[in-house]
Amino acid sequence: MVLPVVAIVGRPNVGKSTIFNRIVGSRVSIVEDEPGITRDRIYSSGEWLTRKFNVIDTGGIEIGDEPFMRQIKYQAEIAMDEADVIVFVTNARDGITQADQEVANMLYKTKKPVVLIVNKVDDINFKEQIYEFYSLGLGDPIATSAIHGIGFGDMLDQIVLNMPEKKGMDYEEDVIKFSLIGRPNVGKSSLTNALLGEERVIVSDIAGTTRDAIDTEFTKDGQKYVVIDTAGMRKRGKVYETTEKYSVLRALSAIERSDVCLIVIDASKGLIEQDKRVAGYAHEAGKAVVIVVNKWDAIEKDDKTMRDWEELIRTEMSFLDYAPIVFLSALTKKRLHTLFEPLNLAAENHKKRVVTHVLNDVIMDAVAMNPTPTHNGQRLRIYYATQVSIQPPTFVIFVNDPELLHFSYKRYLENRLRQAFGFEGTPIHIIARTRD
Ligand code: GDP
Ligand code: GDP
Repeated sequence: MVLPVVAIVGRPNVGKSTIFNRIVGSRVSIVEDEPGITRDRIYSSGEWLTRKFNVIDTGGIEIGDEPFMRQIKYQAEIAMDEADVIVFVTNARDGITQADQEVANMLYKTKKPVVLIVNKVDDINFKEQIYEFYSLGLGDPIATSAIHGIGFGDMLDQIVLNMPEKKGMDYEEDVIKFSLIGRPNVGKSSLTNALLGEERVIVSDIAGTTRDAIDTEFTKDGQKYVVIDTAGMRKRGKVYETTEKYSVLRALSAIERSDVCLIVIDASKGLIEQDKRVAGYAHEAGKAVVIVVNKWDAIEKDDKTMRDWEELIRTEMSFLDYAPIVFLSALTKKRLHTLFEPLNLAAENHKKRVVTHVLNDVIMDAVAMNPTPTHNGQRLRIYYATQVSIQPPTFVIFVNDPELLHFSYKRYLENRLRQAFGFEGTPIHIIARTRD
């Protein structure tokens, strides 16, 4: 399923990020405590009346040293390109400013629905402040106070009402959907072209999504694949395309639709912070991951180079300890064939189900070998475990007190599960619950 996208636009300081944070709520990040991941919240998911959607705070996308007014225009352009519903935020305290009018002028050109918000109406007695905003010509303004959560029901009703019913297309279950994720110039489009080179290819525009979202289907050795939304194939020469935040935004929507993310790294440049950040998103989204070290032709190598790289990746991206690593060259196509086995395996493990009684045997053996921890004289007791979902495999462990299942013991159990069932290429989630 492709979720509809809602983009928030408006000049600085009207309350966009406050609104964004309130819509996405206090979604607890599963990797918040893990080192190596810097969170950068301009894109997240929200839900209202059972409808799920993604939200972008375009205010978080900075475009180099562009002057103020131009930044705002680019942000509006991104919203018009990427979103299904645009939330245009203004603020009651300042009335309509020149910058608001500029944004409105941009939005007149879009066919997409616009929800007009007049924020900072903290006192509902001053609701008449919103009337002047009718003159923007973008429909009925909705008064909100992001600080107090006033008007959010009305706002979310309007957002959901304007969302497209169904979006995009889904593929059959046995198709492996994957995307190539990485910072600009690591070789994503070269690798895509190399992979597609000899195979029969169907390129499909997805109805209802942004005009240049492209999925490419191909078959290799009887297995069907879809390469999703490949960044390199959509270059349109827009100014903001090369900014990091924008590429992250594109990556996030591709990650979301993928079963497996290929994290592409440029061997000639080494591993940098931005690589880790992008990889962190795939991990956090619970996707299967294969790490691809590309441009293997471009570096000096000896018999230790590969091992050194492996060590570097394992140290720097320890949260991806389950991800296989492949080394190849998109340019010369050397070692290209080594990609498919780990890709297939990661996809398979991502949707693996284990038998409940075997699962419980493994957990109980693990407890017997390494007794559960105690805290303040209380010992963790594990009663029963069950797999509740796949993609990624997710296990619920019923215990006496979930607080007693500390990170290190959880990690131990995870390792035991990995040894027993071989979840190479996929994250697995363990959730502790009290037994009723
Ligand atoms: P952005 O630049 O548009 O993302 O704006 P922010 O969300 O960062 O908000 C700018 C400032 O306005 C912050 O100090 C917020 O606390 C404040 N703010 C946001 N929403 C409201 C509101 O509804 N009422 C009041 N009084 N202040 C608000
Ligand atoms: P993207 O921005 O990640 O899609 O990167 P591109 O595929 O556009 O590649 C960026 C540059 O790296 C181009 O000049 C490519 O020719 C070059 N490149 C890509 N893959 C390889 C490779 O395996 N080896 C070498 N030497 N260069 C490569």
